[in-house]
Amino acid sequence: MTDVPRLSIVVPCLNEEAGLETLVRAVDETGIVGVEFVFVNDGSTDGTLAVLRRLAESDGRIHYLSFSRRFGKEAALLAGLRKARGAIVVTMDADLQDPPRLLPEMLRGIEEEGHDCVATRRTTREGEPPVRSWFARCFYWLMRHFSEVALVDGARDYRMMTRQVVEAILAMPEANRFTKGIYQWVGFDTKWLAFPNEERKVGETKWSFWRLFRYSLDGIMAFSAAPLMLASLLGVTFCGLSFVALLFVFVRALVFGDPVGGWPSLVCVITFLGGLQLFFIGVFGAYLAKTYTEAKRRPAYFVKEER
Ligand code: UDP
Ligand code: MG
Repeated sequence: MTDVPRLSIVVPCLNEEAGLETLVRAVDETGIVGVEFVFVNDGSTDGTLAVLRRLAESDGRIHYLSFSRRFGKEAALLAGLRKARGAIVVTMDADLQDPPRLLPEMLRGIEEEGHDCVATRRTTREGEPPVRSWFARCFYWLMRHFSEVALVDGARDYRMMTRQVVEAILAMPEANRFTKGIYQWVGFDTKWLAFPNEERKVGETKWSFWRLFRYSLDGIMAFSAAPLMLASLLGVTFCGLSFVALLFVFVRALVFGDPVGGWPSLVCVITFLGGLQLFFIGVFGAYLAKTYTEAKRRPAYFVKEER
């Protein structure tokens, strides 16, 4: 095969009509040759698909997939990686928050320095609400301490990898795809590049606070069973505590007799433990629900149009 592109650029797009041409131009300005574009239209409701059709018509290097509805960024990345044919593949956002000017350096990291991946991280979170940054920091702390993947704070989904790494990622069969974790989990040697945060140039962010919150819970549950362990740990702790309390009450009754009293504190203890039990039933339920959706083996997306 002589027509394997040197570099496939995979771009998930949800309502990004305004920035796609700029992105292609910005990539071309880097002067990299042998590029293929794989755009994945994740159920956009604006003119994204029309722009993609037009771009593909006029430029043979541009390919796209269009989903039958919105399936989410993770599904779009999966579809893009499956379609990409390049010897090296990079995934990036459509909004120029992942600066194309880094592409030559990333390519050098793989082609000349021999790394398997070149990943990027933001050094700042400027232009982001403080609450969001705080939650993000908590999330990364939790993942670092309680999961099997050591996520890097500020890591972007802007990542270049060899064909070998792409195949490894595609071999991960799960339907609940938490890409940041998967990248880390498959291993391989990764070089990190840092860059200051870039503001979105066009369009608006697709991530509401709640969507991000749910996404972080997905991430924790996909790569950690710590919340389940916590139930046993707390259970053992409370057993120990109650045993000590029992001894105390027993001895006190022997020494001072047995006056009735203390029922308000008893009610507090019972409601506290009841709450704790309900909370952990909820945690079990969440894992069970994940197992259930996984067991149904539904496809991650459906493609309506492809080119
Ligand atoms: N995106 C997508 N499906 C979604 C959400 C986002 O395809 O459900 C795409 C979006 O078009 C963009 C990239 O994923 O190319 C990152 O989204 P965004 O820029 O909104 O995220 P942020 O940079 O604010 O984290
Ligand atoms: Mg963005």
